[in-house]
Amino acid sequence: MELGKYSFGVGDRFSHEGEAQLRALMKANAKGIEVTPVWNKSNREHNIVHSEPVETRKEADAAVKALGWTGGYYVDADHINLTNVDRFIAYSNFFTLDVAAYIGNPSEVADVAAFVASCKKLGAKVSIPGIEAPIIISDEILNNVAGKYLAAIKEAGKIYRHIESVKGKNNFITEVSMDEVEAPQTPVDMFFILKMIADEKIPAQTIAPKFTGRFNKGVDYVGDVAQFAKEFEQDVLVIDYAVKNFGLPENLKLSVHSGSDKFTIYPVMAEIIKKYDKGLHVKTAGTTWLEEVIGLAVAGGEALEAAKHIYTAALGRKEELCAPYADVIDIDDAKLPSVKEVAGWNSEKFANTLRHIPGHPDYNSNFRQLIHVGYKVAAEMGEKYTGLLEKYAEIVGGCVEENIYDRHLKRLFNL
Ligand SMILES: [Zn+2]
Repeated sequence: MELGKYSFGVGDRFSHEGEAQLRALMKANAKGIEVTPVWNKSNREHNIVHSEPVETRKEADAAVKALGWTGGYYVDADHINLTNVDRFIAYSNFFTLDVAAYIGNPSEVADVAAFVASCKKLGAKVSIPGIEAPIIISDEILNNVAGKYLAAIKEAGKIYRHIESVKGKNNFITEVSMDEVEAPQTPVDMFFILKMIADEKIPAQTIAPKFTGRFNKGVDYVGDVAQFAKEFEQDVLVIDYAVKNFGLPENLKLSVHSGSDKFTIYPVMAEIIKKYDKGLHVKTAGTTWLEEVIGLAVAGGEALEAAKHIYTAALGRKEELCAPYADVIDIDDAKLPSVKEVAGWNSEKFANTLRHIPGHPDYNSNFRQLIHVGYKVAAEMGEKYTGLLEKYAEIVGGCVEENIYDRHLKRLFNL
């Protein structure tokens, strides 16, 4: 199984927007950019929404059938580990092995020695075309990097082999992710991580490092864009080297867990992958949920009332809802509108406040982030919420499609 050069991860909390998401991707394909759809959903999200992986599989299959999509498509068991992967195995053909929690764990002495010996075969330093400074291979550096990442990659090997024992070789896509940590991984870290992945014989087709900067949920990138560009470019070059020299799959590419809507860095990544003719995988998740709330607001009447209820309830439970996302949201309480204020809003005002159009006078990133984490409120509304999604499917789906195509794919692929 080989993932296409460009692929796009669409998360869908309530599994109702598969067709709208696929319509957006098909639009890009019609313009000549082949983008493979991947439906990703994490274990954490399933637990919060009380959904099951089989629903994501059904959603993807149904969307593909309804729209007559004949290309490849995948269902991604996103951010899984050995304790929860079994729940996904039958329904997924893409697995994101999340080993961030193992970074910094101690390794067996023999494992470290084997890693050091394997790297020493590369010589005292490795020059990578396009990167000025060579990568130095010394005992000190190797021991240091093994102390940080070896236990994590060994764990990824365990998860990979477990999945392989059930699904069989070549029957699924493997991603290794370490993005949900505070400290970014540098391109030099990436070099050694890829060496470990190759030594562990994990046929990774995508790798998701923690990039420099803040990837807050649902809002734009915050950080040093020039530094991001430099590291992203070096990561691309390191991957190219690793593919040619470590025997990793030829289509191995970066996976950017965007937390949705990193519009500032989209053109930066677009330029670099074009420059080197490389692939890219971008994952989004909450952006579709936010478009559902926008769509309901636009629909007006009872649907607008439901959108207002979601905000009001989320405001009252702010601490509880934000807690699992503490590291990836920055909400300025003083800029959150009051319940009374929002009660007086019409459809347009609500939608414009929530819709991610930087520079729009009504756009409020604090409001947007709070609703981003407020999907638990909608989950608790149960069929009342999904019933509204079905009743106003045309308007909501239109918002979802427009968002993925106009704001994401157009920026990423220069459409
Ligand atoms: Zn992630």
